[in-house]
Amino acid sequence: MKIGFTTTFPIEIIYAAGHIPVDLNNVFVTGDAKKFVEAAEFDGYPRNICSWIKGMYSVAKSTDIDAVIGIVEGDCSNTHSLMATLMEEGIEVIPFSFPFSRERDLIIREFDKLESYFNVSHKKVIEAKKRFDKIRKKLIYLDELTYKENKVTGLENHLWLVNSSDFNGDPDDFEKRLDKFLSEAEKREPIKAEYRFALLGVPPIITDLYEYMSEMNCQIVFNEVQRQFSMPYLEEDIYQQYLSYTYPYSIFHRLEDIKIELEKRNIDAVISYSQSFCHLQIDTMIIKNHLDYPVLAVEGDQPGPLDARTKLRIESFLDMIRY
Ligand code: SF4
Repeated sequence: MKIGFTTTFPIEIIYAAGHIPVDLNNVFVTGDAKKFVEAAEFDGYPRNICSWIKGMYSVAKSTDIDAVIGIVEGDCSNTHSLMATLMEEGIEVIPFSFPFSRERDLIIREFDKLESYFNVSHKKVIEAKKRFDKIRKKLIYLDELTYKENKVTGLENHLWLVNSSDFNGDPDDFEKRLDKFLSEAEKREPIKAEYRFALLGVPPIITDLYEYMSEMNCQIVFNEVQRQFSMPYLEEDIYQQYLSYTYPYSIFHRLEDIKIELEKRNIDAVISYSQSFCHLQIDTMIIKNHLDYPVLAVEGDQPGPLDARTKLRIESFLDMIRY
């Protein structure tokens, strides 16, 4: 079966049960994203609801997804209503929660529920984790080629890390393509840039942000949330792996990781990206308070290229850093 999901969660359980996990976000953003948004609005989704939610709704409704796992705690405040509209469409919905308190007992309970729903043993789940950790090690190397050796672009880094949320439905093929990419990237000349940027927040819906930053002679060498999707800590214990994953918990957990990485990666400035109509926009206030770096808040709404106003804001921000 193809099991859709709304944000990164223990895909080990789905693979171990012999099914294929499908990150609905990736299908949305790599497909005809504008059409997916329009289709949801045609069904009645309000204009002032985040485009990702509308995109995921349309993807789940219009593709061959058999069931959807909704992350009902630790992700998006809109997920409950998204799940309700999918149930209205006759789509099977399975809830999973990342407990806000980050307590081990509670996440174990969530694993137990999902494992018993899919009738899979924990031993098989651990075997899947061990298999994926081999790929995740290679993604850590890819990230190092980005910020240590400057041989991988911010966009390439973003695409590989974001796709690790489901390994594109075929971990063996993903790994084969990754090996080929890494051996090619190793041979490249280092990319030269005036400024090194970090991109914080959910993956951008803007299609040309990375290209525009390159044109402005800036390299994005830290994709915060995309890196989290790749489970970069290589925890031995699978429960700890999903407790160390910062995205579903509080902004203060994210900040602990962000501060370490900004320093390690020798970052000059930060873009704090958020989506229009998303509750995470509020976190940018806290990010600005806690980081000792220039921070530019960038907002995306519809899928598509940067608008003139945002381009101008980026240029003015660069002028401000320069002088
Ligand atoms: S960007 Fe924000 S509002 Fe949109 S799906 Fe993600 S968490 Fe929800």
